[in-house]
Amino acid sequence: MSLPPDYHMHTPLCRHASGEPGEYAAQAIRIGLAEIGFSDHAPMRQDDFDNWRMRLDQLDVYVDMVRKAQRDFPQLTIKLGLELDYLPGQEAWIRELSARHPWDYLIGSVHYVDGGWDLDNPAKIDEWKKHDPWEVWSAYFDWLARAADSGLFDLLGHADLPKKFGYYPHRDCQPLYERFLDAALRHNVAIELNTAGLRKECREIYPSLTVLQLAARKGISITFGSDAHTPAEVGLNFAEAVELARRAGYTHSCRFARRQRERWPLN
Ligand code: ZN
Ligand code: FE
Ligand code: FE
Ligand code: ZN
Repeated sequence: MSLPPDYHMHTPLCRHASGEPGEYAAQAIRIGLAEIGFSDHAPMRQDDFDNWRMRLDQLDVYVDMVRKAQRDFPQLTIKLGLELDYLPGQEAWIRELSARHPWDYLIGSVHYVDGGWDLDNPAKIDEWKKHDPWEVWSAYFDWLARAADSGLFDLLGHADLPKKFGYYPHRDCQPLYERFLDAALRHNVAIELNTAGLRKECREIYPSLTVLQLAARKGISITFGSDAHTPAEVGLNFAEAVELARRAGYTHSCRFARRQRERWPLN
């Protein structure tokens, strides 16, 4: 049967992705996906927050772009999602954005850690050399647990993102994983298998098999995402991701419609 839906794809509005949604949709059809979903970087209240997301006045443009792709590709199911940055203090803003459109799902991602450093930003890789990886990982997973506990999201993006450039702590991270997974379980939040990690220095799907096995044991749902920033990345390495999910003990992925979850069998 078919591959699971690809729920993590961007648009040029975020200023670091290329290709129109229609090109992503065409690629999805070409590789045999039955369902996809766009989840571009949500705006902040202040447009000068950073330079890698859509502006606030582009939110409606984004929704129109996705709607157009839905009309142009009726043979493909295309969902409307958003990737929101979780930072403590942003809850009211996230709630406001959630109410603006009938989203199919909301991805909660942590990119920023204390002090306003977006730890996955290649332009700021030098910061890693100034920090103790354990401190960064601890701060990151603390916020990820708070993201899950906020109850604002349907799924958490790229759960072990701090491994991106290969800066690993020399300590057992299991307590960090347990904490955010328990929060995810309490609030019925899924986690995604994000294949973009394979294209980064860590050369590994987010999250690791260790995290996935813990998640599977707790009964936490999963989705799949390529985090495509170009049409060619749609559904990339999904066969490998499905194999990893199965190794961790998963038999199902899930899909969302208007923030309601349904199971999707993995073959
Ligand atoms: Zn991005
Ligand atoms: Fe992200
Ligand atoms: Fe993304
Ligand atoms: Zn991402």
